[in-house]
Amino acid sequence: MGKDKIKEKYDAVIVGSGANGISAAIYLQQKGLKTLILEKNSEPGGATRSGQLTLPGFVHDIGSAVLPMSYSSPFFKTLPLEKYGLEWIFPEIAFAQTLEDAEAVGCYQDISKTAATLGKDKEAYEDLMNPLVSNWTKIDEDILSPFGIPSQPLQFLKFGIKAILPAKTLINHYFKEDKAKSLFYGAAAHSTLPLTNLASSSFGLVLSIMAHINGWPFPKHGASAIIKSLLAYYKDLGGTLYCNYTVKDAKDIPNSKIQLMDLTPRQLLKIEGLNLSNTYRKRLSKFTYGSGVFKIDWALNDPIPFNSDICRRAGTVHIGYGSEEIEHSEALSAKGEIAKNPYILLVQPSIFDSSRAPEGKHTAWAYCHVPNGSTFDCTEIIEDQIEKAAPGFKKSILKRATMNTRELEIFNPNLVGGDINGGKQDITQLFTRPVAKISPYKTSIDNIYLCSSSTPPGGGVHGMAGFNAAKQAFQDHF
Ligand SMILES: Cc1cc2nc3c(=O)[nH]c(=O)nc-3n(C[C@H](O)[C@H](O)[C@H](O)COP(=O)(O)OP(=O)(O)OC[C@H]3O[C@@H](n4cnc5c(N)ncnc54)[C@H](O)[C@@H]3O)c2cc1C
Repeated sequence: MGKDKIKEKYDAVIVGSGANGISAAIYLQQKGLKTLILEKNSEPGGATRSGQLTLPGFVHDIGSAVLPMSYSSPFFKTLPLEKYGLEWIFPEIAFAQTLEDAEAVGCYQDISKTAATLGKDKEAYEDLMNPLVSNWTKIDEDILSPFGIPSQPLQFLKFGIKAILPAKTLINHYFKEDKAKSLFYGAAAHSTLPLTNLASSSFGLVLSIMAHINGWPFPKHGASAIIKSLLAYYKDLGGTLYCNYTVKDAKDIPNSKIQLMDLTPRQLLKIEGLNLSNTYRKRLSKFTYGSGVFKIDWALNDPIPFNSDICRRAGTVHIGYGSEEIEHSEALSAKGEIAKNPYILLVQPSIFDSSRAPEGKHTAWAYCHVPNGSTFDCTEIIEDQIEKAAPGFKKSILKRATMNTRELEIFNPNLVGGDINGGKQDITQLFTRPVAKISPYKTSIDNIYLCSSSTPPGGGVHGMAGFNAAKQAFQDHF
């Protein structure tokens, strides 16, 4: 489809159909505008797509898999997604963490139940989590919005002081034993930052709070079910989506009052003929990308034979044997090296959702962090790490599909060098992404906005960047 074939006139055009692009389009369509989404790929959803990667009947999540941020998203909560087919699955244990002695600990929704398994750190865990969880609903919208004056300054400050710390400082301040330290590190390492870096606690805190508030759910039939429900609602509102439509030049974008880009700075800079100012171009080109990921999907003959019952009952399993090993793994990938014993995120959705594999068989999804742009094949080191917690795992593999950082970027150009968060989420780019600006969504062109995970609040399937950008654009132009 070319621009010349698009005869209709639109108020707003959105480039990219990731969760953020669709959210921006829904918000504007709800406001009565006529909107169009243009997507490069043949399938919508960006990094949230599910499909067959290994064998017939096995449904894999090609990108994101576990969606607590979707379930808790203040914008998604306002949408009737269940009416459009979305069903949630809540594993009993949000996430498990393997330990040095082949045992594991789990994060349950109940704080006391989690704390009770943490030995000497029982009280410290409760002291850390109880106030944060009770206050979360007062500050979640502030945290998921561009940096500004919070509506609840005191509660925000109480969270912010802890979130800004390196995860290492936080665990050493609160905990005495490695069980609690490892459990927190497993969640904090989602940041893709070295755990000694400022703000690496923020991911650990937000993800643990979400586990205690709602668990870590995922959609039945695969992560793409959220995209399907968002798009079904969008189309009912009268919105239009064209796939197989790559925007390479400003001329490819049909004339419209506003344009929102679900792109990272690097793609925006590549679009020919965009009249971005030189100063803005220079600032965008300084935006940095974080570590990448190496991902594996397996079709399995049996459930993963974890030694620990806790790992068998958890939706997500963080694999790493001791806090030191996890810390080392994350430090190495950021430094440009591959850890021999990497920290791994693993999900086995078919345990909870029989639609994901033929009867009696299973699908599993895992990745580890690697240097940005790495083409190193991590299959062996990932499978060896899992085998330690689940002897016999390798024997049950029927087929695997792997993606290194280059292959991820081919799958979706927003995954620059395999970075799944749309850019590094360190202290300099956590709130002020992609550049420090009162409204980070505005570009130097009056009617063009960025709305991807490269804008606040960053990575994850929550749609909040799209929602925030669309709100700003609507306020500015209508
Ligand atoms: C392997 C992996 C695992 C992940 N796991 C999780 C998880 O479990 N939970 C979670 O919450 N998050 C997870 N994430 C992160 C999450 O998927 C992303 O943060 C989120 O999808 C970002 O959404 P977005 O709308 O900003 O961009 P994207 O989803 O990247 O969408 C951008 C879209 O723009 C399109 N596009 C790009 N250039 C053009 C162009 N020139 N013209 C037209 N279209 C274009 C792309 O094709 C793509 O469809 C994971 C990501 C990956 C890759």
